[in-house]
Amino acid sequence: MILIDGKKIAAEIREELKKEVSQLKKKNNQAPGLTVILIGDLAPSQIYVRMKEKAANEVGLKSEIIKYPNDVEEKTVLDKIDELNKDSLVSGILVQLPLPKHIDKKKVIEKISPSKDVDGFHPINVGNLSSGYESTVPCTPLGCYLLIKKYEKNLNGKKAVVIGRSNLNGKPMMQLLLKENCTVTITHSKTKDLKAECLEADIIVAAVGIPELVKADWIKKDAIVIDVGINKTEKGIVGDVAFDEVSKIAKALTPVPGGVGPMTIACLLKNTVECFKRLQN
Ligand code: NAD
Repeated sequence: MILIDGKKIAAEIREELKKEVSQLKKKNNQAPGLTVILIGDLAPSQIYVRMKEKAANEVGLKSEIIKYPNDVEEKTVLDKIDELNKDSLVSGILVQLPLPKHIDKKKVIEKISPSKDVDGFHPINVGNLSSGYESTVPCTPLGCYLLIKKYEKNLNGKKAVVIGRSNLNGKPMMQLLLKENCTVTITHSKTKDLKAECLEADIIVAAVGIPELVKADWIKKDAIVIDVGINKTEKGIVGDVAFDEVSKIAKALTPVPGGVGPMTIACLLKNTVECFKRLQN
């Protein structure tokens, strides 16, 4: 079984980005800039934002975190996004989710200029992706896609099953696999026989949030299995795939942690650099 080492592949991507950022800085007299808006004091959000800032600084991006208290007015956040949209030193804007209940996520996402939308959540980017046009792709599915392509260059005609239909993961993942000519089945909480669907798959991407849902007897021999899940359990952080048993059947599998997680951050940096290049042109 191939252990798909997301940590190593993400480090390679960051190393390449570091070189590219250095060249871009020389050429444009300006570094790509990533601005993250963090609202409230949710511990996981604070950790994610710190990790993103550290990674951004390491590749030479200009990074900034704007923090607001939990009770900040929605208008203050929307006005700030407006200001950042107009700021030529900012190439990428990310508003860390989840947001407090009184702030409308849809309004916030739609306020970010599609050309600076490094999360790829703006409807324009979602539409472009589904139409097969150039777009910014959400970081986690982009990371999964790059991991799959690392081990399987030609995905023509492969059967892929995506578990989960969130805007964040499942839906963009489906689009990326479709673009690669896979025959894609997208499954969700109302799917009748998930095991039977998975048993057909050459590629499985699990983005559910249920610890070790995908078992060894759900997997076709030689399947590639990508585990997006991050679930806190008594035995620590586990994915949506029962790693120990599935690793005996699958051709390739991502670990949790150390699989998709590091790729998400690397892809955020990649998206920021791509936005910068498009804005310069
Ligand atoms: P979500 O809750 O928005 O979506 C979960 C999806 O799973 C839904 O579409 C739902 O229909 C489906 N689902 C629920 N129960 C199911 C079942 N029994 N069978 C089949 N489908 C079922 O979650 P999300 O934001 O897409 O995140 C999914 C997981 O990925 C979570 O564990 C999250 O922590 C993790 N995650 C990891 C990363 C990373 O960088 N590795 C990034 C984002 C999310």
